[in-house]
Amino acid sequence: MVRSKGLVAAALAVALFAVPAAAFASASKIGSPGLGDRFFPLAGNGGYDVGHYDLRLAYDPTSHRLGGVADITATTTQDLEQFDLDLRGFDVARVMVNGAPANFRRRGQELVVRPATTLHAAEPLHVVVAYAGVPHAVIDPDGSLDGWVTTDDGAVVLSEPQGSPSWFPVNDYLTDKATFTISMTVPNGLEVVGNGLPDAPVRHGATTTHVWRERQPMAPYLTTIAIGKFAITRATTRTGIPIINAVDPRLARDSRAALEHVGDIIDWESSVFGPYPFDSVGATADYAPEVGYALETQTRPTFAFPIDTLSLVHELAHQWFGDSVSLQSWPEMWLNEGFATYAEWLWTAHTGGPSPQQSFVGTYNAIPANDPFWTIAPGPATLPSAVDLFGDQVYLRGAMTLQALRDTVGDDAFFTIVRQWAATHRGGNANTTEFIALAERVSGRPLHPFFQAWLATPSRPPLPAGANRGGGTRGTAPSVRHLRRR
Ligand SMILES: [Zn+2]
Repeated sequence: MVRSKGLVAAALAVALFAVPAAAFASASKIGSPGLGDRFFPLAGNGGYDVGHYDLRLAYDPTSHRLGGVADITATTTQDLEQFDLDLRGFDVARVMVNGAPANFRRRGQELVVRPATTLHAAEPLHVVVAYAGVPHAVIDPDGSLDGWVTTDDGAVVLSEPQGSPSWFPVNDYLTDKATFTISMTVPNGLEVVGNGLPDAPVRHGATTTHVWRERQPMAPYLTTIAIGKFAITRATTRTGIPIINAVDPRLARDSRAALEHVGDIIDWESSVFGPYPFDSVGATADYAPEVGYALETQTRPTFAFPIDTLSLVHELAHQWFGDSVSLQSWPEMWLNEGFATYAEWLWTAHTGGPSPQQSFVGTYNAIPANDPFWTIAPGPATLPSAVDLFGDQVYLRGAMTLQALRDTVGDDAFFTIVRQWAATHRGGNANTTEFIALAERVSGRPLHPFFQAWLATPSRPPLPAGANRGGGTRGTAPSVRHLRRR
C-alpha cells in the first residue's frame, strides 16, 4: 500500500497555483540572502546571475578534505555593495571580486561578500573563492541525506534540493542555471565521473586531474561528482549521442541489464517527448547505502544502489522534465515527479505491461476516498511543506493528474501538450500556471476546474468520464518503489 503521511492540507485560503514571489526588494545595494522560495527561503541569492562555474578542486579520500578554487563568472542585476553566495562549512581563505581582494564573513549557509568598490548593475561580476575543509552532507526536512556523501572508496554527490553548497560556493537556485567545468584531482587509481563529457585525464606524480564539462545550462542541484572505483563503458544512442556509464564493480552485475537499455530508453523517450535536450547521456551507480535514492543529475543520473530499468526510465525522463524544463520554485515539484512517474507508466505499457490507463485507475481505486493520501494536494500553492516534497502525492497524484488530463483532452492533444511543454521551455524554467495555459490552448478547453480538482483540492477528485472503461480496475496496490527515486 501507499505510505501516507498524516498531514492535513491546511491551505484553505491560499490563492490557487500562486507562485511564491521573490519577496525581497532590491532597492538597496545589498543583494538579498535568498530568493524567497516558500520551502527554502534562503536558497539562492539576489543581485546577480551566474553564467559559468569553473571549479578546480582536489579531494583526499583518506583525510576526506576537499579544497581548491571556485571561479564564478556572473552578471550583476542591480548595484551591489554586498552580495551572498551559498556555502555550507569549509574555511574560506580568500575572495576576489573582479580581480581585487574582497571582505567576506560567514552567516549560516551564507558567504557574505563585500567587494572593495560598489558594483553597478548589468556589469560583469567575476568572483574567485579559495576554500578547503571536510564537506558534510545536508540533512533534508524529510530526514534524507543530500549533497556531498562520503563513500568507502571516495565520495558521491546528489544535491536535490539543497546539497550543492555542501561542496562549492554557489547561487543555489533552480532559476540560476549555468554551464560548468569541474576539475577534480584525486589519487591515482580512482575514477571521477561528472556531468557532460570528460577531457582526457592528466596525471602528475601521485595524483590525476579529471575534468568534466557540462556545456548546457544546468541548475546547481543537478551537478554531480562521483569519486571511487568504477567500471566505465561507452556507447552511443541510435542518433549518435555519446553514452558514458560508470558502475561501482560491486553493483555491476545487478545493473548490467538496465544499463544495456540506456540507448533504447533515450531513443524511445525522444520519440515520445521530443529531441533529447543534451549532448551526452549515461548513468552512474555508486555504492552508498545510506543515501537510499537515485537522482536525475544532468546528463548522467546517479544511483546509490544497483540500477533497475524502471528507475532508469524515471531518471532519464527527468532529463526533459526537471533538467531541461526546470521548476520555477520547489513547491512546483509535481511537474518533475508527475512526468517522470508517468514515463514509467508509458514504458511499462511500451514493454507489454498494463496501459497507463490501467496504472492510473488501479492506483486510484487502491486508495480509498477517505485515505489521508488524498488530503495532500500536490499543486504549488497547496503542497504543505518541504517534508512533502518527495511524498507519494507528488509522484502518484502527479502522474494520475497527467493520465486524467489525457482522458479529458484525448491522446493527440495530450502528447502535443507534452512535446510543446518540453520544446517551449527547453533549457529554462516553468510553472504550473504556464502548464495549465498550454493545456487549455492546445486542447481548446477550459481546464481550470480540472486542475483545481487534481492539484489544489485536498480530497479525492472524481475520475474523468469513461476512465473506468475496460474493466479489471478493481484496484491494485501502487508501486512504492518510486520512493527510492527523486
Ligand atoms: Zn523523480
